[in-house]
Amino acid sequence: MGPPGAGKGTQAVALSEHIGGAHISTGDIFRANVANETELGKTAKKYMDAGQYVPDEVTNAMVRDRLAEPDAAAFVLDGYPRTAEQVTVLDDILAGLGASLDVVLELVVADREELIQRMLKRAETSGRADDTEDVIRHRQDVYASETAVLLPIYRERGLLVEVDGVGTIDEVQGRIFAALDAAVPQA
Ligand code: ADP
Repeated sequence: MGPPGAGKGTQAVALSEHIGGAHISTGDIFRANVANETELGKTAKKYMDAGQYVPDEVTNAMVRDRLAEPDAAAFVLDGYPRTAEQVTVLDDILAGLGASLDVVLELVVADREELIQRMLKRAETSGRADDTEDVIRHRQDVYASETAVLLPIYRERGLLVEVDGVGTIDEVQGRIFAALDAAVPQA
């Protein structure tokens, strides 16, 4: 978990390789559907371009299907859950699969302007329709109002591990692997 621009995508790919699991990014799946002009993509695009969350029922159904695939025996979820409703549904999906979360990693980047500068830099190359300054600022607001409230839920469950997300990609990766190995010795 972590706000837009915290580096979740970059770090989640490395982490999934580290644990030998699937990298499941809801943002990536939505973008692939937009590129392929699927019905799901058409629905998602309207929300994504405005920096809003895609409706829970759409996102939840997609994650339910993805987690049922055989390569998802071990996984890193990137960008999900993002709402309280998604937390409840994820609990249900995992219970149905006889699976559970080992750890919830939060990439901490407290400085909002640092996040916005990172995203504006990425915007130069990403080609993402949601990487304009107004939308980027709105995505920070949505994270603060919808998603930051999930952190105490996972903290209370004893699953939350906070990792400092400021530094080079390699530095942050080193901290994540160390934190994970401490929290989940068998990983
Ligand atoms: P970022 O971390 O930069 O916000 P993502 O690639 O994770 O970017 O997500 C891009 C967009 O995809 C989000 O702004 C949102 O519209 C949609 N999205 C991704 N994950 C979810 C989710 N769990 N619930 C609802 N919408 C989502």
